[in-house]
Order: sequence, then C-alpha cells, then structure tokens
Amino acid sequence: MTTLETKDELVGRGNREGAAMFRDWFSELDNTAKTGGQAAYVFVMGSLNEILKTFDLPVVFPEINSLQTAVRHVAHEYLDEAEDYGYSPDICGYVKADVGTQLRGGEHPMAQIPKPSLTVLTNACNTYIKWAEIWERMYDTPTFTIDIPGTRQAGGQTWQGNSDFEADRKYVEVQLRELITVCEEVTGKKFDIDKFREVLGHANTMSRSWKRILELNNSKPSLFSALTDGTIFLGVANGFRGTEEGARYFERVVEEMEYKAANGIGQTIDEKYRLLFVGVPCYPIFRRFNELFTDWGGTFVNSTYLWFASGGTNRGFEYDLNNPVASLAEGVLISVRDAMDSMFHQNVALADMANSYDVDGIIYHPIKSCRTVSTGLADGRKHMTDELGIPSLFIESDMMDRRVVSEAQMKNRIDAFFEGLESRRQHTQPDGKG
Ligand code: SF4
Repeated sequence: MTTLETKDELVGRGNREGAAMFRDWFSELDNTAKTGGQAAYVFVMGSLNEILKTFDLPVVFPEINSLQTAVRHVAHEYLDEAEDYGYSPDICGYVKADVGTQLRGGEHPMAQIPKPSLTVLTNACNTYIKWAEIWERMYDTPTFTIDIPGTRQAGGQTWQGNSDFEADRKYVEVQLRELITVCEEVTGKKFDIDKFREVLGHANTMSRSWKRILELNNSKPSLFSALTDGTIFLGVANGFRGTEEGARYFERVVEEMEYKAANGIGQTIDEKYRLLFVGVPCYPIFRRFNELFTDWGGTFVNSTYLWFASGGTNRGFEYDLNNPVASLAEGVLISVRDAMDSMFHQNVALADMANSYDVDGIIYHPIKSCRTVSTGLADGRKHMTDELGIPSLFIESDMMDRRVVSEAQMKNRIDAFFEGLESRRQHTQPDGKG
C-alpha cells in the first residue's frame, strides 16, 4: 500500500466504520422487533451489557434512540406526542421521546424498536427508576434495578484493599448474581461462564483501547473532536460492549489515532483553541452547535460526556477472567461510581484534564431536560474560574427540545467568549500565537 493509500484508509476510519456499525446495530433491533424476538432495555450508565450479551439478548438504549430523534430533527414530534399524552414539558426529554416511540408502537427514524423483555437499570440517574416504571406499566416487563454505592464525599472514594470498598463490591456482586438468575428465567437459557469470560475479554480490549484513544487526544493538534467524532465512538462503546466487533473496532481506532499522532494529522480544522466540554451536546442543532466553536478554531479535546456516557469504558478497567462475576462487580462499582462522580464531583478530574490536555477554555452546557447532569454546574464553573483561572463559558439550552434552543443568542455568547480568548492570548503572547 502506498503512503497515500495508507493515509486514506486510516484517517476517518473510526467515523466510517462506527457509522456503519451503528446502522447494523439498528438493523438488528429492527429485525428483532419484526420477528418478535426478545430484547433488553438498558441505560448507558451501567448497561450490564456483559451479562446480557452472554445471554445473546439484543440491547436497546432508549437514551440513544431518543437523542437520534433530535439529531434527525424529529424530536419535537415525539415530545409533542408524549406531552399530549400527559407528560410535563419540564421532565427529561429522553424519557418523553421514548414515550412517543412506545406510543407509536416502536416507530423510530433508525428502526422499528422492539418491545422490552427485561429492563436493567442502575441508580446512576434517578430518572432511570421512574422511566423503567413506565415500561413496567406499559408491558408488564420484569425490571431489575442495581443499587451502586456512590462516592460519599469529594475525594472520598475507597479502592481495592479497603474494607468499605470490599463491602460495596460484595453488595454489587450479590445483585449481579440475582440478575444472572433473572436472565436465565427470561431467556430460558443457562448461564454459560465460558461465554461470559469471552464477553469480558472483548470488553477488556475495548476499555484498554478507549483509554488509549482518550489519552492520544492530548496530541497537538488534537486528533478527534470529543463532541462529534466522540459521539460515534460512544455509540459503539455502548451498543457493542463485550462483542468481538466492538473490540476489533476500538483496536482499529487506536491504530488510526496512533497514525494521526505520529504524522501530526489533527481534526479537519486548524486548531487555535483547545476546549473541554461539560454536559450533554445540543442535539437539535448538533452540526451548527459544533460549527459555532469550530468557526473560531475551537476544538473539543475531551469532555465529561465521553466519561459518563461511555459505560465506564473510559477508565481502562480490565476484568479478571479467572474471577469473572466478582471482577464484573468491581468494574461496575468503579465505573458507575465514576459516572456519578463526573456529575457530582467533577472539578478535580476537570482540573487534571485541563492540565494534561493543555486547554484554553471550558464550555459548560447545562440542559433544561437533565437535572442530573446540569445541577451544580454553575457552582462548578465558579470554582474552576476562581481557583484555577481557566476561562469558561456557560450556555444553557437542551439536548432534545428545540423550543429552548436559541441559536442566535448562543452565537452571541460564543463569539464574545472567543473574542475574550483572543484578546487574552494577545496580552500574554504578543505575536498572538498559541
Ligand atoms: S435525566 Fe439526564 S441522566 Fe437522567 S435519563 Fe435524562 S438525560 Fe439521562
């Protein structure tokens, strides 16, 4: 292969292959719905895909289905339907878009969504619990809630070797063993420990690779957009967790990113300002939202989204295949706790990220729909500005509801932010170069 062919094949591979896998995943769901097969409904923070894949249960992520309605500019139709049915405009837009999907018998722009045979959730977001109750009422579906102990205070996490950690791990393990029994009952299959080990092995490859991909993005220029490309990677990290395709995909993305880093190939724009993103993207105008930053040479090098929405893959945690159930309990405890920390105790990690990725600013994007992610962001932002002096921007909109997205207002605020960054740079570096 010539150098040019190698470059063409490698650069953009993660996006091309990720988008194709995403379509395949929805085709599988479509097929499941049309043939009346079983499916499990799960959430991104603690999907327990490792157990569900062992039972060959297709997984449905209603959060991802909902955001896809916004990306495809039809979310308002689904939201209206749920609000006409009686749901308040104030609650999480993901829930309402899903209610709209269910009321339409699973009709969705990407596929026909199958009905749930089982719902698995954690306490990472309190909305998960009320959301699952909707399916219980609609379909009489068995619902399994896993209670994951969170961090009790900032900096108060415990780790392996500590008796509190061991008690928490055992508490999770008992619940996972119960979930395995429920899966046996729902599917009529026996739990296959060897298959489970295989699934965990693939999940290990994905975690190792995802951690490496995130680390590589501290290259200058950065290699991928944490906002746009990152969302594709997240889709595969969730939908294909524990599968061979998912493992190979992430290995191939590592190869792409290593090539880009070695050859100084950055994002498609000339990087002037390196940014961190906190919150959930503005999906109703996703492309434009990103352009409001890239037009100024702003690139997103990392985000809390790539952290809490990756199902724990970001930590690089690897399961011990000799002790699989206990090790899954440890991984689930660490990763779901970490996802909750990304919302409640994010400042320490953000400060680390700001430093290791050498960022110029932090964009806070609280959203009307999601109090779980948005509560406390104003205080967090104040802390980062007061204590660390990192410039930041606070813009409010929504990830689903176009009624509260004002592009013109957003543009004014974003333009003013970049003008501030530009003048700050001119003062600190008279040649104006980064
Ligand atoms: S409230 Fe936020 S974290 Fe919870 S389900 Fe909705 S979008 Fe997700």
